[in-house]
Amino acid sequence: MTDLRQWLPLAVDAVDAWMSQFGPQEEHPSLRVDDERLAQAFHELSDRLQDNYPFGSPRYVGQMLKPPHPAAVLGYVTAMLINPNNHALDGGPATAQMEKEVVADLAAMFGMPTHMGHLTSSGTIANLEALWAARETHPGKSIAYSADAHYTHSRMCEVLGVPGVSVATDSAGRMDLNDLDRVLDAHDIGTVVATLGTTGLGALDPLPEILERTQARGVRVHVDTAYGGFFTLIADDSADGVASAPFAAITRADSIVVDPHKHGLQPYGCGAVLFADPAVGRFYLHDSPYTYFSSDELHLGEISLECSRAGAAAAALWLTTRVLPLTDDGLGQVLRACRRGGLDWARRLDASQEFTLFQEPALDIVTYFPTHQRMSEIDAASRDLFTDAASLPSAERIDLATYLVEESGFRTRGHMVDSDVPRARIMRSTVMKPESADAIKEIETTLESLVSSRAAAPVPDGPH
Ligand SMILES: *Cc1c(COP(=O)(O)O)cnc(C)c1O
Repeated sequence: MTDLRQWLPLAVDAVDAWMSQFGPQEEHPSLRVDDERLAQAFHELSDRLQDNYPFGSPRYVGQMLKPPHPAAVLGYVTAMLINPNNHALDGGPATAQMEKEVVADLAAMFGMPTHMGHLTSSGTIANLEALWAARETHPGKSIAYSADAHYTHSRMCEVLGVPGVSVATDSAGRMDLNDLDRVLDAHDIGTVVATLGTTGLGALDPLPEILERTQARGVRVHVDTAYGGFFTLIADDSADGVASAPFAAITRADSIVVDPHKHGLQPYGCGAVLFADPAVGRFYLHDSPYTYFSSDELHLGEISLECSRAGAAAAALWLTTRVLPLTDDGLGQVLRACRRGGLDWARRLDASQEFTLFQEPALDIVTYFPTHQRMSEIDAASRDLFTDAASLPSAERIDLATYLVEESGFRTRGHMVDSDVPRARIMRSTVMKPESADAIKEIETTLESLVSSRAAAPVPDGPH
């Protein structure tokens, strides 16, 4: 398998061999450090890094976090030894070329007939860029996004000085079409942001129906699929696939954001923004006396908001997609396993006495809560489960995450709870690693026993 102990020395050798043709490389005395001192500091570093959650464990099913694929690490480290800057061809011709290739692959994955785009340091920056272009094509107009859209959309609207309008969600956490109609009538909307794979619930906004409404009005559509984008590889309505309709409609959107550092097996920071109309490139025009010298060819910095950006990120994604291509039988198999894990978990929760499934997962994010009548009890039991599962011995410990729900969130999904408190935490689990899919049975059994042993425990003494 991909053992980095075998591959990483090859990275050092390859870069050394290339550099050796430029003559001897003497390290300046000011940079020389004592091996002993470095060893000590490294020891301290590895110690301090243990203050982390075990993201790579199959039983880490909390937030959207996992280590990158070894191929991504190898690609990143190899290029980082050179440290190209993908802002300009002067900074990194090879990795800039790789970036153009992987961005074309991403566009092809979504079925875009034409595209202009690039990698970014994050989904947030990619969305900022898409909304900035939206402000330029639809000046003076507002931007609408669902109440469950990523929180940075309203923040970026503030940054851009564009009014942001929130659209209600329906009983599955998708953008509510009736409320979208209301918003389109009541506000001067220039752009609608559709989220395919909301960060909280993994819900898919009804993109075909959104496009029907927006296209007639000349309203722009931006698709934020930072988390869910790679699921397009398995959007075939099959038993271990996801719904095809929202993903098939992406080709009709004006811009797309996807995060290779989420489901694309990449280290941070690797986001991407894609525009359907290459003419948005005109908004980026700038003229600085110190940037581009090496060629008249397009420099990535001429079509991106950011300046310096790691060429290593492009090398990492390029190498990863050479060995795990953006196809159903490449990266798609990773996503299918995650999807199977999510579905398996949902079935087990459905059958469980201890838990209630909050809603059907559309992707691989599973939401559920310990079955209780009062919201205060649900909240306390969720909090306890979160703590108890993480306090198990290391070889058994399970890392979870929680999600805040208001009474209406329970009610619209048919969970008739007593709202003795306004909001309650429920459990939110992300099956983001294919290895987790095989651990679901064990995870679910353990969580059930944790919940029932809490229920059996005597209530602590105190005034009743
Ligand atoms: C994660 C996420 C973002 C933000 O992306 P970062 O890479 O964390 O900046 C935006 N939108 C959605 C839907 C996300 O899941």
